[in-house]
Amino acid sequence: KKVIFSGIQPSGDLTLGNYLGAIKNWVKLQDEYDCYFCVVDLHAITVKQEPKDLRRRTLELLSIYIASGIVPEKNTMFIQSHVPQHSEAAWLLNCFTYMGELSRMTQFKDKSAKSGSSVAAGLLNYPVLMAADILLYGTDLVPVGKDQKQHLELTRDIAERFNGIYSPTFTIPEPYIPEAGAKIMDLQEPSKKMSKSADNPNGFILIMDPPDVIKKKINRAVTDSLGIVKYTDDQPGVKNLINILSVIKGITPMEIENYYQGKGYAEFKNDVAEAIIGELSPIQEKVKELITNKEYLQSIYKSGAEKARYVANKTLRKMKKKIGFIPEE
Ligand code: ATP
Ligand code: MG
Repeated sequence: KKVIFSGIQPSGDLTLGNYLGAIKNWVKLQDEYDCYFCVVDLHAITVKQEPKDLRRRTLELLSIYIASGIVPEKNTMFIQSHVPQHSEAAWLLNCFTYMGELSRMTQFKDKSAKSGSSVAAGLLNYPVLMAADILLYGTDLVPVGKDQKQHLELTRDIAERFNGIYSPTFTIPEPYIPEAGAKIMDLQEPSKKMSKSADNPNGFILIMDPPDVIKKKINRAVTDSLGIVKYTDDQPGVKNLINILSVIKGITPMEIENYYQGKGYAEFKNDVAEAIIGELSPIQEKVKELITNKEYLQSIYKSGAEKARYVANKTLRKMKKKIGFIPEE
C-alpha cells in the first residue's frame, strides 16, 4: 500500500478551508492508502500560542478528524510532539537546507510580515520540520491545499539532495491537491486564502460555527455590484462562494451558474449557507460528543504515536548512520 502523510496545525480553530482543502479528501483516501494523519502541534508554536488554547485545540482537532469520518482503526492518528523523531530529523535536515530556500517561501514572507519585529527562527524553519514529517514515513502522497505546494517542492528538493549526497534513503513524495476546494478564499478579502489565524473572523467560517453565525458570515461575504452568479476571476467573491457550493454539493460551477441565472445574490447566498450548515452540523454533533471522552481520545493518540515512533525511528536511524554518527549499540 502507498503511504499518505498529512497534518493540520492546532494554531487556531479549524476553518471551512481546512475541511474542504484537506480533511474531506483524506476521508476518501483512507481505504486505498496507509495513512498517517497528524496533529502538528510543533508547527503551531512557530507563532505565539496560549498554552490552554493549544491544549483545547489539539484535542478538538483530533475530534474533528474522527467526526469527519477518519476511522481510527484504519489510520495512524497521532500528535506530532509525541513522536520526538520529528524534531530530531528536522535538525538533521536543517543542515541540508539553504537559508535562501527558506527565506524565499511565500508562507514565511506572509507570516513574518505579520509577526512584526519578533519573528521566531522556527517560522523560517517550518518547511524543514514539514519535510521531516513527510520523509520519516516513506510517504508517497501528501494531500494538502494549494498553499502548501511550495513547501512540498522544497521537501522533494531536500530529499533528493540527501539521497544524492549519500545513497537513496527517502521516497520522493508527490503533492496530492484536490481539483476543487484546493484554495478557499477569505470571505472579506477574496484575494487572500481563508486562514484560521486570520484577524477578521468574518473572513472565515469555522467548522464549529453555529448555523446562525454561518448564515451571518455568508450574508456579509464580499461580492460585487454586478448581481450575476458567474464563475469568473472578475468576480472573486462570487467565484469563491460558487467553489464552496460546488465542492459540498459535488456539482460543477457551470451547473451552478445555470441554476442561478436571473436570480440574485440573496437566494444564492442563502443556499450556500444552507449547504455549509448541512455539511458541518453532523460533524459538530460528533465533535461535541467526542471531546467529552478524553479517555477514548487518549487511546487513539497513544496507539497512533506508538506506531508512528516505530516507523519514524527506522528512518531516523538510517539517516544518522549515513551521516556518520556512531550508533550507541
Ligand atoms: P494557519 O493560518 O495557522 O497557517 P491554515 O488555515 O493555513 O492555518 P494549516 O494548518 O496551515 O491551516 O493547513 C492545514 C491544511 O489545510 C493544509 O493542507 C492546507 O493546505 C489546507 N488549507 C489551509 N487553508 C486552506 C484554504 N483556504 N483552502 C484550502 N485548503 C486550505
Ligand atoms: Mg497555513
